Amino acid sequence: MAHPTDPIVGAMRSPTTEDRALITRAYNMAEKAHGDEKRKSGEPYITHPLAIAERLAEIGMDRDTIIAGMLHDTLEDTTLTSEEIEKEFGPTVRFLVEGVTKLAEMRYRGLDRAFESLKKLLLATAKDTRVIVIKLADRLHNMETLSFVAKEKQLRIAKETMNVYVPLAERLGIGLFKTPLEDLAFKVIDPKGYANTFAFLAKQRTDMEAALADALKEVKKELAEHGFTQFRTEMRVKGVHSFSVKLDEKKGHVEKVYDLFALRIIVPTIEDCYRVFGIIHAKWKPLPGRIKDYIATPKPNGYRSLHTAVITDRGLIIEIQIRTEDMHHDAQYGAAAHFSYKAHGSEVRADQRKTWADGILNIAKDESSEHAKAGLSNDLLAERMFVFTPKGEVVDLPVGSTPVDFAYAIHSGLGDGTTGARVNGKMVSLETELHNGDKVEIITRKNGKPNKKWLESVKTSGARKHIRSALKLDPR
Ligand code: MN
Repeated sequence: MAHPTDPIVGAMRSPTTEDRALITRAYNMAEKAHGDEKRKSGEPYITHPLAIAERLAEIGMDRDTIIAGMLHDTLEDTTLTSEEIEKEFGPTVRFLVEGVTKLAEMRYRGLDRAFESLKKLLLATAKDTRVIVIKLADRLHNMETLSFVAKEKQLRIAKETMNVYVPLAERLGIGLFKTPLEDLAFKVIDPKGYANTFAFLAKQRTDMEAALADALKEVKKELAEHGFTQFRTEMRVKGVHSFSVKLDEKKGHVEKVYDLFALRIIVPTIEDCYRVFGIIHAKWKPLPGRIKDYIATPKPNGYRSLHTAVITDRGLIIEIQIRTEDMHHDAQYGAAAHFSYKAHGSEVRADQRKTWADGILNIAKDESSEHAKAGLSNDLLAERMFVFTPKGEVVDLPVGSTPVDFAYAIHSGLGDGTTGARVNGKMVSLETELHNGDKVEIITRKNGKPNKKWLESVKTSGARKHIRSALKLDPR
């Protein structure tokens, strides 16, 4: 007879007999613990942890994570104890379940609390990203079943999702969670906006279907003529919320949203990526400024791919993304794919992530909420880059940051005392924009004072705040 955990085991990569036995045992434990408890939908409660464990298995998470997903609500909602969980499944599962339980204790109460939650989430991530992955799967299932919850509560949960979980999924590069979370939240927060954008998107799709199909056929033909046989393609349509944001940016000019549809070409090797890139550009004219090599310079969340936008013979502008299967997998699963990510061969240290989380909390504490919002979008949502100290430690900064931002990110004393900077061994001005992978050395003097002019070029709110306070300017 089929067991409820069969799909989970089926989704795992080469599951062992032990995997099967332990997952079944976790299911039985959770089912017994939740007893007659029901979800708001009236279904037995176990359907919820089961759905989460299944999704975790689908995205390739390991056995401990799947088991922790199955048990994630037992500490909060039932009489089961941490000790009992550890006795059955070991200390890792206990740690993961406790981590998710701690996160569940937080509730969103306006922006400040969102920042506070975010910090806790990030601190937990620094220890083990799997806690966040379980939490994201939990939130996604709750969003999918949100219609059974009271109206005011729906709005609170949707806002929390948009403000806390969407940026987290983005930051961790988990595209597979980010887009559905964002669109489900958008639908609750702004039902009209959602419906309009959705309808508009659907119409664009219909209007362009023939041209898109043509482009796809041409690409396949062109690649075949160049001897490519091992590749596959897929069409990516922009998410509803992401499209709505882009459309606002472009003041409603849909023809300026070049990445509404993206044609993905997935090839076996990195070398193939660049060859296909060349073939596409020989065939169609690329749009200036739209070529991005995220293979040579990955995004801070680890995203890798080649991007270009071309004008086809029918005058269609289409984004083309070229990547390997590995890169494609990473773009979907992000940090869930490998629990610690690496940048330029050096591990991003846990305390670096902690510093980053602290920075976010400071914005929330010290500035008005409008500024907090601006600070959030600059510091958190903007693209990040990694630069290095002379000792090879990684510092995580928003793109466009200067040596002054770098100095303040390390220590406010270092920032205040800065008189000069060397980037990759060369002296540079303090307004110089840093780039991913730069090695930065700060030259200081004792009892130094910041220069008011720095305020014009710094990018981080942390640096701005310290400069203003060192110069005794009004905080702003
Ligand atoms: Mn739950």
